[in-house]
Amino acid sequence: MDISVIIPTYNEEANINMLYERLTGVMQQMALKYELIFVNDGSKDKTISLIKALADQHEQVRFIDLSRNFGHQIAVSAGLDYSVGDAVVIIDADLQDPPELIIDMYKKMDEGFQVVYAKRKSRKGESFFKLWTAKVFYRILSKITSVSIPVDTGDFRIIDRKVVDVLNSMPEKHKFLRGQIAWIGFNQTYIEYERQERFAGETGYPFSKMLKFALDGITAFSDLPLKLVTYFGFIVSFISFLLMLYALYARFISRDYEPGWTSLMLVTLFIGGIIMIALGVIGEYLSRIDGNIRNRPLYVVRNTNIPKDETPPS
Ligand code: UDP
Ligand code: MG
Repeated sequence: MDISVIIPTYNEEANINMLYERLTGVMQQMALKYELIFVNDGSKDKTISLIKALADQHEQVRFIDLSRNFGHQIAVSAGLDYSVGDAVVIIDADLQDPPELIIDMYKKMDEGFQVVYAKRKSRKGESFFKLWTAKVFYRILSKITSVSIPVDTGDFRIIDRKVVDVLNSMPEKHKFLRGQIAWIGFNQTYIEYERQERFAGETGYPFSKMLKFALDGITAFSDLPLKLVTYFGFIVSFISFLLMLYALYARFISRDYEPGWTSLMLVTLFIGGIIMIALGVIGEYLSRIDGNIRNRPLYVVRNTNIPKDETPPS
């Protein structure tokens, strides 16, 4: 198998057939042995029946039907576990990532790259809010992390089997694949493209999911929030020390003092606030550590047409 294409799908009934047509066109043009792995991430529409219909007609179509909605990153991870291609493409189902770009990405691998990701020059049909939050997030992330996670990229990329094997062996449950792939290293490069509008349907990434995803990215690749709390703690302690000196001075030397209800309240509230922030940040990390040591399976497969012995999931 030369190429596996992984397509996470969540309520994409209006896009499946068009995507299949365009992907198949691209694959036939490249004249390679390929498989299209559709991962149904608990869709509530006809997505899975459309995929199964395709699988009945075309031997290259494989499906993994997850038992519920596990989220985009986990859907992709399931596809990675079951893929057998020497190279693996990750692509969205909504045609925002043009399948035709795969041809160029695949060619780039011949120049000795194990990862070729697609970098968006522009994004069509996204809200101002999404564009702006994404832009700010990726820039902050690249500033505070130790691995260089490329800005303005999604998961649309082609990766070599070697990278896939490492990815599959990484134990974290809060997946942030683009960060993990950057962490893995090897030779990585990119090609630029214009991100298209969604062909049909609606985004499966409302603000709540975006926020969770951003937190996963930050906590998995940066200790800065934890460290900031420590710095903050030092600064607050220093200010408190000065205030204590002043309080003692006022009480015993200048003897100019009121029963200081206001200052007491302010100081108490201030420190209370800091403690709350600190606990919140520590809590974020703890919850993730907890998630990792719990060691639950990452996903549960309801059904697949890929024989188990073909790919033992790691
Ligand atoms: N997706 C998924 N599970 C989810 C949400 C999204 O598998 O819980 C898939 C979705 O079908 C699409 C890809 O992930 O193929 C990207 O999602 P979407 O297009 O909704 O995100 P956006 O492009 O709006 O950021
Ligand atoms: Mg999309």
